Amino acid sequence: MTTLHPTWCDPTHCTVPNQQAGLGARGGTHRSKLVPLNLETEARGQTGQVYAGLSQAAKARAGVFLKWIINGEIVGHLPINDAEPLAWLIADALANQRGDDQPVEHTKAPGQ
Ligand SMILES: [Zn+2]
Repeated sequence: MTTLHPTWCDPTHCTVPNQQAGLGARGGTHRSKLVPLNLETEARGQTGQVYAGLSQAAKARAGVFLKWIINGEIVGHLPINDAEPLAWLIADALANQRGDDQPVEHTKAPGQ
């Protein structure tokens, strides 16, 4: 079977073979390009520049994970379903910054 890749998968980072025997035999991991976060921090004994990206094992029904990497080591990962609320907040903030979305009035006093 010819392998199909998620649209976010980057061929230079993907480890899934182009041809696979079948759904149950799929190996490798779809991987996105790594995005620099302009953040240097320490995690699991690694100090350095942080990169983020997506990954998904090629086996059937595998979830998609947001991972963050320091010095080439994966130091954390999160199912994208858990990251979705933050992703929507960021999308709203970017739309507002671009002028695609307008600020709104709150109907209650601040802090209540
Ligand atoms: Zn792929």
